[in-house]
Amino acid sequence: MICSHCNSKMTAQKSGRYHYVESGLTNIYLRGMTVWSCPECGAEEIEIPDPAGLQDALARVLVSKESRLTGKEFRYLRTHLGHSGADIAARFAVSRETVSRWETGALKVPGPADIALRYMVLMGKANYDYKVTDLNEILESRRRIKYLEAKFQNEWKIENKSA
Ligand SMILES: [Zn+2]
Repeated sequence: MICSHCNSKMTAQKSGRYHYVESGLTNIYLRGMTVWSCPECGAEEIEIPDPAGLQDALARVLVSKESRLTGKEFRYLRTHLGHSGADIAARFAVSRETVSRWETGALKVPGPADIALRYMVLMGKANYDYKVTDLNEILESRRRIKYLEAKFQNEWKIENKSA
């Protein structure tokens, strides 16, 4: 491998424990990776096999985490879904600034936003292709509800009694 900074030939080494700060998370370590280092300028580059698989696996662990998501974790899952901060702000009906405050840790991620984001990630896992359009459909088809009537006829049927 050639150093992208100074074009020198890099040398490979197996890492023991690599602090994966590139993930944007503070507490992720990778084991047994190949780390390329430049003898000239000291630049380092890590070789990560199946990065998409790693991102998936990390997302799965974060989703099943017991405590509230940290701002960094929230940001990780959001970007894992391919959403911008503005996307999430629109879907959660908050301002872009609010999402930014959650992610920087200035504000604690509220419980409902925490759960909703986890749910979105889980939906993505089930379908393996998270469709923003599905959520948009739900949001666009929101209706005023006076009351709901649930009936069981082999399966539950819900009727919106707003009309
Ligand atoms: Zn170099």
